[in-house]
Amino acid sequence: MALLQNHIAVVTGAGSGIGRAIASGYAREGARIVLLDINEKAAAEAAREIRDGNGSAESFALDVTRREDCIAVAKQVAAKVGPVSILVNNAGIARRNGMTGADAAVINDWEDIIAINLTGVFNVTHAFLPALRAGKGRIINIGSIQSFVHLRTPSSPAYTASKHGVLGFTKALAAELGKDGVRVNAIGPGFIETPLNEKVRASNPELAKVFIDHTPLGRAGKPEDIVGPAIFLASELSAYVSGSIVMVDGGYRTI
Ligand code: NAP
Repeated sequence: MALLQNHIAVVTGAGSGIGRAIASGYAREGARIVLLDINEKAAAEAAREIRDGNGSAESFALDVTRREDCIAVAKQVAAKVGPVSILVNNAGIARRNGMTGADAAVINDWEDIIAINLTGVFNVTHAFLPALRAGKGRIINIGSIQSFVHLRTPSSPAYTASKHGVLGFTKALAAELGKDGVRVNAIGPGFIETPLNEKVRASNPELAKVFIDHTPLGRAGKPEDIVGPAIFLASELSAYVSGSIVMVDGGYRTI
């Protein structure tokens, strides 16, 4: 039997990259998928792709920074699709600026990155929490190698702080919700080729090389590399796993 049969899975940022790959991977495992993205068109296209492959998928436009909209979408999903049992908090942005740039840019990065990558995770989790608690659900948050600090590649304090926050939130929720049978884990992707880093890869191939030179498996990741670990954490295969971060980084953090 498929690993996620009888589940309804919500994926944020599901119109692109890692979220899109997880959404279609979950659909292949029998889950009904709810794709949420600020880019309504991309989410609708990804949902259509899943339905074309005989999966079940609905898409809704959602900016995860808008708390009231998150609550409204959770109500629409409950009415239109049903009770959600898997939530993947994936929507995120990355900017690699340091703390010593122009004030306006530093402040702007902080506000945008924390609002989307961290407060967005809170907003969506909060909105779907009643359903997840009622259904002994699973939450998977997308962290990063920057859920830990390293010096090899430029990292913005805002992005690093947001991804440390995601890991802290994961552990705190796992501790609080375990008694309800809700499991909460994170995935820490390494350097994964997606639209998020397309411009940097094109304009600064040296940076990609630094990442790959420090990756024991010797290559960049693909969105599909995240799918197996994401299925594991959503399924009964991980029935006794909670509060963990599964690094999917080709070994980046080992050297
Ligand atoms: P991506 O291809 O850019 O996909 C992210 C999706 O989220 C896009 O569709 C984006 O829409 C959407 N989004 C942005 N802001 C949003 C908002 N406020 N509300 C709802 N959706 C929003 O990026 P990705 O590489 O797949 O990244 C997915 C997650 O993995 C992020 O949390 C990222 O930090 C994390 N991650 C990525 C890597 C990597 O190397 N790629 C490594 C570690 C962690 P727009 O395109 O319209 O902005």
